[in-house]
Amino acid sequence: MLPPVGCVLAVANLARRERELIVHYRLENRFFRPPGLTESLFAWVLRVEQAEGRRENEDLVMLSLAGAKSDKGQETQLRVKLDLHVHSCYSFDSSLQPEELREVCALRELDGVAITDHDCLEGALEFQRKLPDLVIVAGEEIRTREGEIIGLFLREEIPPGLSAEETIELIKDQGGVVCIPHPFDYIKLKRLTASRLLKMREMIDCLEVINGKPRYWGANHKASEFSRSWGFLVTAGSDAHRKEDVGKVYTEMESFHSPREFLKNLEGAQVYGERYSAWASQLERWRSRLRRTGKA
Ligand SMILES: [Zn+2]
Repeated sequence: MLPPVGCVLAVANLARRERELIVHYRLENRFFRPPGLTESLFAWVLRVEQAEGRRENEDLVMLSLAGAKSDKGQETQLRVKLDLHVHSCYSFDSSLQPEELREVCALRELDGVAITDHDCLEGALEFQRKLPDLVIVAGEEIRTREGEIIGLFLREEIPPGLSAEETIELIKDQGGVVCIPHPFDYIKLKRLTASRLLKMREMIDCLEVINGKPRYWGANHKASEFSRSWGFLVTAGSDAHRKEDVGKVYTEMESFHSPREFLKNLEGAQVYGERYSAWASQLERWRSRLRRTGKA
C-alpha cells in the first residue's frame, strides 16, 4: 500500500508546490483536483483517501472529475479561469497584497492569475510561495526599447532596456512564453507596431486581445481583428493595479502543467471581459508611486 498522505511531506521527489497543493486540498476537503497537481498524483491521493475511509465511493465519482471519461469516452479536462495580467505590490505602481488577491479570486471565482510586475519578478515568485492554493503564473512585464513585452513562466528576472528580440530570446532561454500586452494602445508612446509584430511573428507566442484599461478605446477590438487575421493565439488580462480590478478580464482554458501545455490549451481558450474606467486605477498607481518615494 502507498504511504498515507501525511507522509507526502517526506517524499523527496515531490516538488514543494505539489506537497503544498495536496496539504491544502486535504485541509479544505475539496472535491476537485487543484490546478497545478498532476492527474496521476491526484489519483494517488484519491486512492489513499479511499483506503483511509475518508471518501465514499460516490465521492470518488465526483473527485475523479479530472481524469473521468465522459459519455463519449473523451477525457474531461478541468477548465481554469485566469486573469493573465496582474500587478502586485512589488510593482512600483500597484498596491495588491497576497491576501487581497486570495479574497478577490474567491469572490470572482478565479483559479489564479499571472503576476506580471513591471521589470520585476520577485513579487510573482513571492506570491507563488504565499498562495500555493492558487495558480500563480510567474511573469514580468518588461520595458524593451520598443515597448512592453510580457514573459510568462519565468524563473529569472529579465532586465529592461534591451531590444525586443534580445528580450524575447531571454524569455525563451528559460522556457518562458512570450505575450504582447495591449498591442494596439496607440496612445502609448512606445509600443511594438503591427509591422514589427508581423516581422517577429515566429518569435511571439500570443497577443493580449482584451486588456482592462487601454488608453485608446478601440485597442481591444483592433487586437482581436489583427490576431484573427494573422492566426495569433490570444490571452486576456485585467492589467489590474489594485484589488478591485482583478478578474474584470480573464482567460478560460483547460488546465495545464507546463508552458508547452499552456500554449497548446490556449488554442481552445475563451477570453472574457471588457475595458473598465482607468481613472480609479490610475489614482492608485500615483498613490503607490508616492508611497514608494516617501511623499505619502
Ligand atoms: Zn501591465
